[in-house]
Amino acid sequence: MTSQTEIYHPSRYCKSEGDLIGSAMVLAAAGRPLERLRLIWRQPRSGELLLKIHACGVCRTDLHVVDGELPHPKLPLVPGHEVIGKVIAIGEGIDHVQIGDRVGVPWLGHVCGTCEYCCTARENLCETAGFTGYQRDGGYADYMVADARFCFSIPPGYSDESAAPLMCAGLIGYRALCKAGDAYRLGLYGFGAAAHILAQVAHHQGRRVFAFARPGDETAMAFARQLGTVWAGPSDQRPPEALDAAIIFAPIGALVPAALRAIRPGGRVICAGIHMSDIPSFPYELLWREREVVSVANLTRRDGVEFLALAPKVPVRTETVRYAMADANKALTDLRSGNIRGAAVLMPAP
Ligand SMILES: [Zn+2]
Ligand SMILES: [Zn+2]
Repeated sequence: MTSQTEIYHPSRYCKSEGDLIGSAMVLAAAGRPLERLRLIWRQPRSGELLLKIHACGVCRTDLHVVDGELPHPKLPLVPGHEVIGKVIAIGEGIDHVQIGDRVGVPWLGHVCGTCEYCCTARENLCETAGFTGYQRDGGYADYMVADARFCFSIPPGYSDESAAPLMCAGLIGYRALCKAGDAYRLGLYGFGAAAHILAQVAHHQGRRVFAFARPGDETAMAFARQLGTVWAGPSDQRPPEALDAAIIFAPIGALVPAALRAIRPGGRVICAGIHMSDIPSFPYELLWREREVVSVANLTRRDGVEFLALAPKVPVRTETVRYAMADANKALTDLRSGNIRGAAVLMPAP
C-alpha cells in the first residue's frame, strides 16, 4: 500500500502535473499534538478517488490513535475516519461514481478482497485491512485519496456537518445494534456520539432504550432523556427492568461485569469500541445462564449501505459541535474530557 500523501517541503519540491497541495492536521508521533502542515496529495490510481473534504467527524478511536493506545499507526499520519467529501478526480476502472458526487469514507478503508474473511462477507475481519486515519491517511485535511470500494453515497437530506458522525458513530453503532438481535429492552453504556444516534434508531425500531452515563454526568443523562430513552441513569446503577441486551460504547472494561449484572439470562453484552481498558475479573455466576459477551469489529460495506438507507427513514438527527479543522487538537481535548454533547465535527476552511 503506497502512501496517499507526502509532506510538502518547498525547498525540495518540484511541482508536477496534477499535484495538489493543501493543509492537514498531522500526527508525527503518538502522544504529540497534531501539527498543521502543508501536504501533497497524489492523483488517484486505479480503483481510487480523490476527494475535496467538506467535513470530518472526530471519533473516540482518533483519541486512541493519537494517545498511542492503538499500536503501529502509519506515521506521519492524517487522522480522521468520518469523512464527507466531494469527488474531484477518479482513478481508472471506476464507473459508478461521477466527478462532483458527495461520498463518505468510514474507518474500514481497504481490504484485500481475497482472504477467507473477504470471501465470506466478513471483510470487517480481513487480515490485511487498511483503516482510515490509522493505517491510511484520513480526513483531518483539505483532500484525501480513498479506495472507491469504501466510499458511500450520502443521503441528500443531510448537510456535510450532520452526515459526518453517521460514518462511524452511526455505522459501527448500527453493526453493534444488529448484534443485539431483537432485544426489546436495550441498554446503552456511554452516551456520546454513537449512543445519541443509536438511541434514535432503536426507538424507531420499537425498542425500549435505557441509557447509562458516567456517574454524576447529569448533562449526558438529560440529553439521553431528550432522545426518547425510557430511563437514563449512572452506569453503576441497575436499570429498573432487566435488559435483553446492552451495548457498551465507553472504553471502560469495568462496564462489562456491570452490564452483565443488568441483563437477563440469555441476554447479550456487546462491546462496540476498538479499545477498552482491562475487564476486571468477575464471578462466573454473572455469565451463567447463557449470558454472552461479544465484540464488534469494524464494519462491512453492507452495514454502510443498510445504515445509510435507514438513517433518513428514522430520521436520525445528529447533534454536532463544529470546530475549524485547524482546531483539531482542541476538539480532541474536549472529547477526552467528555465536554462534547453529541459529536465533534471538523470543517476545513472553504
Ligand atoms: Zn481480506
Ligand atoms: Zn470511529
